[in-house]
Order: sequence, then C-alpha cells, then structure tokens
Amino acid sequence: MKANLREVNIAILGGDEREKYLIQELLALEAKVKVVGKPGLTGNHSLIILDNPKEAIKGSQVIIAPMTGTDEEGKLKSTFSPYPLYLSEELFQEIPSQTLFFIGTANNKIKELATSQGIKLLETANINELAILNAIPTAEGAIQIAMEKLPITIHGSQSLVLGLGRVGLALARMLDGIGAKVTVASRDLGELARAKEMGLSTIYLSNLEDTIRQYQIIFNTIPALVLEERILSKANPDVLIIDLASKPEGTDFTAAKHLGLQAMLAPGLPGKVAPKTAGRILGEIIPQVIRANLGRCLK
Ligand code: NAP
Repeated sequence: MKANLREVNIAILGGDEREKYLIQELLALEAKVKVVGKPGLTGNHSLIILDNPKEAIKGSQVIIAPMTGTDEEGKLKSTFSPYPLYLSEELFQEIPSQTLFFIGTANNKIKELATSQGIKLLETANINELAILNAIPTAEGAIQIAMEKLPITIHGSQSLVLGLGRVGLALARMLDGIGAKVTVASRDLGELARAKEMGLSTIYLSNLEDTIRQYQIIFNTIPALVLEERILSKANPDVLIIDLASKPEGTDFTAAKHLGLQAMLAPGLPGKVAPKTAGRILGEIIPQVIRANLGRCLK
C-alpha cells in the first residue's frame, strides 16, 4: 500500500537528480513540499520554491537533506540551487524538536545537535530496505568501472569481494552471474557460509595476505582499513582495486600508489550511474519511513 502523506509539510534542503524524483513522489502522495532552489518542477500548487532555507524549515514536520550529506564545511550538495547551501549550526538551531530530519549520513556534529535539540535524525543511507535496493546500482556501477578500466573481461576473471553485507552480496551475485570466478573474504562465518551456499569461493579476511596475489580485481565494501600496505605489497601488480566503502574506506591509497597499483575510490555510484533508479528508490522508501514515524499524527 502507498503511504499517503496528505498535509505533511516537508522541506527539501538541496539534492541532485535523485531528490527531484523524490520530490515528484512526495507531491504525488499529496505532501506539501518546500524546496530550496529550483528543481525545474512546476505546475503543482503543493510545491513551494524558496531561496531561504530558514523559510523552508519553518512549519515543516519533515526535513530532507541530500543523500550525499555535507562536506567538511557543512555544505550541502544542491544542483538545483544557484547559490551554495550550508547546514550551519545557526540553521540547525531553527529546527524544532520532534522534527524528522533525513540526511544520507550525518557527521558527529549533526548527531550531537540533533540529540541536544530533540530532533529525530534518520541517516537515509543506513535505512536497511533503502541500502539493500541501493546496492543494485552500486554493484552495477562497480562492474561498469571494472569493465572500463581493465583490458580483460569480467567473465573468467579472478574477482575478490571484501565483505558480504548488502553491497557485497549484490556485487558477488552479479559477478558470478557474468561468469567471474568470485571469492568472498569476510571476518564473519555466517557471511562465508552464505558465500559457500551461493557456490562461491571463500577466505577468512585474516588470510588475505596469503592469497591476494591471485586476484585480478578486488572490490572492497568494508569501511575499515583492510587493504593495508603489508597486504597490498603482496598483490598482483596488474590488479585493479575498486573501493566502494565509505570513510574510513578500506584501502591505503598512498601505499597503493607507492607500490604502483591501480586503486580507486568509487563513492556515490547510485546517483552517478542510475540517478533515476536511485531517485525512485528514495521515492519508494522515504514516504514509508515518514509514514511509519508520523503514523499516529496522520489521518
Ligand atoms: P553492510 O551491509 O553493513 O556491510 C558491510 C560489510 O563490511 C560487512 O560484511 C561487514 O561485516 C564488513 N565490516 C564492517 N566493518 C568491518 C571491519 N572492521 N572488519 C571487517 N569487516 C567489516 O554495508 P553495505 O550496505 O554493504 O555498504 C558497504 C559500504 O559501502 C559502506 O561503507 C557503505 O557506506 C558503502 N556504500 C557505497 C556506495 C558507493 O556508491 N560507493 C553505495 C552504497 C554503500 P560484519 O558483519 O562482520 O561487520
């Protein structure tokens, strides 16, 4: 069943193509949406376009900041705003308690402010159902990069996937589907058992050093330093390392460069390779989460 959001006031603070699809879905569910910037959507009396983020926040039960979060200076990505948009402390203090505040991932400062002001913070990237669906464009994007960067086919390649969480699982399954020889490395016995059940090879993460040389492509999904210098020094000189993990990431890139290995960080793939699908995923999941959180207040 679709979550009706009639009369729910929602502020959108920046975003990119994905948030445009989200705005369309929110409007279709009859929410009242205030957007800072000009997303190029017109003709709906429930959509209010504003220049001032404080105005957008006023009276909103829900605030949605971008999937991309903020940079170190608090800047929000806003491809449809002609001027920079910041999630400053001053702006945050304007948010009333009990407001639902979505942001891709929140830094410690945002977490502290939300707690002290009684704001309900939801890190969009951590919503399980959204992360599972987002793993699909992420995995496709990672394979696309591998295809573009390597002079060999993925089919028949020795591919290593580090971690078998949501992204690792989607990726391992897709790689297997196109004929790669897939090995999964994990510290978790359950994940290794799952990989075996899928017909994949497995190694304990702690044994990586002994086996790393055989892999032509390494996809990392573990957000902790697993590909450290000692291990990288044993890798195949022709390996391609694609690190998908968020900070602190899994690769010592300085060491990789020093060793002459091809290693790259590939963040934000859903928004880059499939913004329409990624936007539709936001549009499908966020209204359900709003409804679940405001449920009793909604008719
Ligand atoms: P997830 O479901 O939480 O899976 C994380 C995996 O990393 C699990 O296998 C987990 O194993 C393992 N892990 C975590 N910390 C570890 C540690 N210290 N040592 C060893 N293993 C560890 O996360 P996900 O949704 O798959 O996402 C994986 C990463 O990709 C995250 O950093 C996420 O932010 C990022 N991401 C990137 C993109 C992109 O476009 N590049 C898109 C989506 C997500 P345990 O269960 O043992 O902890």
